[in-house]
Amino acid sequence: ARNKNYLREMNAKKVYHPMAHPNDLEEHPPRIISRGEGVHLFDDDGRRVIDACAGLWNVNLGYSNQPVKDAIAQQLADLPYSSAFKGTTNEKLIELSDVLVDMLDQEDMRRVFFTSGGSDSVETALRLARQYWKLSGHVDRTKFLSLKRGYHGTHFGGASVNGNNVFRRVYEPLLPGCFHMPVPFDYRNMFNESDPSRLTDLCLAAIEDEIAFQGADTIAAFIAEPVLGAGGVIVPPETYWPKLRALLDRHEILLIADEVITGFGRAGAWFGARGWGVKPDMMCLAKAITSGYFPMGAVAVNERIETAFKANKDAMGVISHGYTYSGHPVGCAAALACLAETVRLDLPANAAREGDYLLSRFRSMMDTHEAIGNVRGRGLMMAMEFVADRKTKQPAGKTFMGAVGDAMFDAGMLVRIVGHNILLSPPLVLTRKDSDEIAAAMEAGLAKVSRGPAT
Ligand code: PLP
Repeated sequence: ARNKNYLREMNAKKVYHPMAHPNDLEEHPPRIISRGEGVHLFDDDGRRVIDACAGLWNVNLGYSNQPVKDAIAQQLADLPYSSAFKGTTNEKLIELSDVLVDMLDQEDMRRVFFTSGGSDSVETALRLARQYWKLSGHVDRTKFLSLKRGYHGTHFGGASVNGNNVFRRVYEPLLPGCFHMPVPFDYRNMFNESDPSRLTDLCLAAIEDEIAFQGADTIAAFIAEPVLGAGGVIVPPETYWPKLRALLDRHEILLIADEVITGFGRAGAWFGARGWGVKPDMMCLAKAITSGYFPMGAVAVNERIETAFKANKDAMGVISHGYTYSGHPVGCAAALACLAETVRLDLPANAAREGDYLLSRFRSMMDTHEAIGNVRGRGLMMAMEFVADRKTKQPAGKTFMGAVGDAMFDAGMLVRIVGHNILLSPPLVLTRKDSDEIAAAMEAGLAKVSRGPAT
């Protein structure tokens, strides 16, 4: 192995890391992760930590799933690449399409389009939405609605519907015709409303107002995450999604569920939309589709979309969009094995069970730690929000949050710090013993940094 100083120096000098300032790399060098085993990671000093992020919300099976590794190795030996552009296809792609459409039968999904990841899936769904309306003779339906604090990846389309300024500002101008609606977050919202049902109605009234202002016949689709992930694990009120679907139906606006995080069990149901009892028109999938073992994503479309394409026989119905790695045989083989494992281990149910347990453990920590302002989650997507003052909800400062991240690592747990939140999204194969390890690390980490408020 290369010597450590060389690796650190080259990393600081020659790499641009996502979401990091290049100048910070020397002072705060990222930890070099060299090995994964089960739900644990080892850095190059041999330090073992529990991965309470599951990579980036994606390593649902943990790091040691042999069936997925074997499927990848076998596919590499048989056929390491094949194009899915018109003219050729491959066995694994076909099999996976069949499995996915079956899995999404409850949502009336009919077909899938494969991509290389979540951002690609969002881009694809936005394009298909516009194409759908062109095919249906409504050429003016081009605009998109989305949520403030939503995250939809990094392509220009996704960045345009993203609801967080840090992903937008330095890359503007973005796509015109994208409008951002209030986030249904009961702890912090522009209405100062904590009652979930009233909050739903206020948020929906704002959407209704924007639709009236823009003209429903100019809007192609509404895109949102069933539970917002990167924006801080925001769980909408129970009534939000069903009422949103009904509102969009009244205006014939397409609903795109960005299930890149919530797909395949993370929020305690097989799919986020299913957890809310809602059927979207399109679903963006990625991450857990391969448990992160291979870059891969998909978009599923329902009968409404499928029918429009079927009915149109001219060039406008050609899907003039695709990736070199659409339907990559190794990705498809990985996904097939991964989904079979997700079914066999019944991971959505485990996510619901361990998520409930961890949430109650975290909530009880609020009694001893003034600095925790809010604990929330659904399934194994959880957030702990830190404040300097519980009454005013003034967010905890950067220095405090830096100390929190370090304290957690020292306590044996890797977490993600986003703003003044700890985000947790451990692998779905979590056992009760693993959950206890996370809760114990959280307690030990908190004991180091916080006795009083997070000043
Ligand atoms: N959509 C959502 C909801 C996401 O959370 C992410 C990534 O975290 C993306 C899209 C983008 O996916 P990727 O990073 O695989 O391009």
